[in-house]
Amino acid sequence: MHDDVIADAGKFANDYLAPNAQAWEMNRSMPREMFVAAAGFDLCGLLAPVSQGGREITFSSFIDVVRILAKADFAATFALIVHNNHVRAIASAGSEVQVSRWLPDMIKGQKVGAFLLTEPGGGSDATALKTTASSDGSDFLITGEKAWVTNGTHADLLNVFAQTDPGSGARGIASFQIPIDATGVEPLPAYDMLGGYAMNAAGFRFSDVRVAADQVLVPAGKGFAAAMAGIDIARTVVAAMCCGLLETSLECVMPRLQDRQAFGKPLIEQQGLSWQAADVGTDLAAARLLAKEAARLIDAGESAVLAAAHAKKFATRVAFDGVSTCMQAMGADGLKQEFPFSRALAAAKIAHYIDGTTEIQNVVIARGMRRTYSEF
Ligand SMILES: Cc1cc2nc3c(=O)[nH]c(=O)nc-3n(C[C@H](O)[C@H](O)[C@H](O)COP(=O)(O)OP(=O)(O)OC[C@H]3O[C@@H](n4cnc5c(N)ncnc54)[C@H](O)[C@@H]3O)c2cc1C
Repeated sequence: MHDDVIADAGKFANDYLAPNAQAWEMNRSMPREMFVAAAGFDLCGLLAPVSQGGREITFSSFIDVVRILAKADFAATFALIVHNNHVRAIASAGSEVQVSRWLPDMIKGQKVGAFLLTEPGGGSDATALKTTASSDGSDFLITGEKAWVTNGTHADLLNVFAQTDPGSGARGIASFQIPIDATGVEPLPAYDMLGGYAMNAAGFRFSDVRVAADQVLVPAGKGFAAAMAGIDIARTVVAAMCCGLLETSLECVMPRLQDRQAFGKPLIEQQGLSWQAADVGTDLAAARLLAKEAARLIDAGESAVLAAAHAKKFATRVAFDGVSTCMQAMGADGLKQEFPFSRALAAAKIAHYIDGTTEIQNVVIARGMRRTYSEF
């Protein structure tokens, strides 16, 4: 199972993502066909049960898959992960109606999913969200605005978090399955950004969108916990993707350092450069171990809150520094679009925001440390 999915991920990365990644970045969007192409390699239901048409791989395998895909294209990989997470959420919490209506097409990549928690007013303090879900008989009416929605321009199904009881904080938050063509859903234009265009990030406005009770995915009282339950996985995944960015950068720069001459010898024989490369190698090895440990804990059903926060914080930091170091060692050529550095640098910066910023990882880590060290 593990070897098969790794082989499929490698083939999809080499045959489809790598040849297209730069063009998608230059065109400022990735076509929705990417999801159908990924489904051709069985990569759209990675975490869903086999009984529902998924692949049901472990999280330890999942982080290897995403690292391999992110080597070729970080942004497209994140888009695919958001889709996979939506599939997993429906598979684990969805009603029979939701499962039969959405899962087959999503696993075939013909319908695309998206996760809508962040709002224009802020993403870090998710319990303060302002989108409301007011009761109207047995239905709900959803009103508000969401920001930074990965797959925003392609999504067919939106997993929208909204407050059912203003003033009640996390307790009142529920999640709703809203088809993109529902009356009152207004897609907003995609963002102009530093990079990461394959994420097709955009916003949405909702004006009295009517949602039947059977479109609730996670009810109030459990909605916020459900969003947070997936967060350790998401953080671990981003850490593994950052390892992919470092691998690509090293694979690109190391041959160059050995071939290119300056001052009568190959660049790699300049100790300053070889030590910089060695530091990137050490950071990569450490980031991989942190991500692996977090995934091991998740697979074992143990708490991975701290491990995932450590992994994400460390991996995003060293990815940004490491990509930049490798880019510098390429000389001015590192700036050319034929090399992956500009895309990787933008991706490493984006990694600092998605699934909780670096500062929020520190909030989580500091909270955990206060508990750990109160015993000494
Ligand atoms: C390309 C991209 C794709 C995304 N995709 C999605 C998606 O699919 N779905 C989704 O819901 N969201 C998505 N996000 C949003 C992302 O989760 C948020 O950007 C993130 O949660 C931070 O929220 P914010 O940008 O509103 O910053 P804010 O919450 O406004 O924070 C501003 C700054 O203050 C810092 N800060 C906040 N609180 C504290 C604190 N207590 N201590 C110290 N510092 C603090 C933050 O770290 C940040 O540096 C995406 C973001 C990007 C960039």
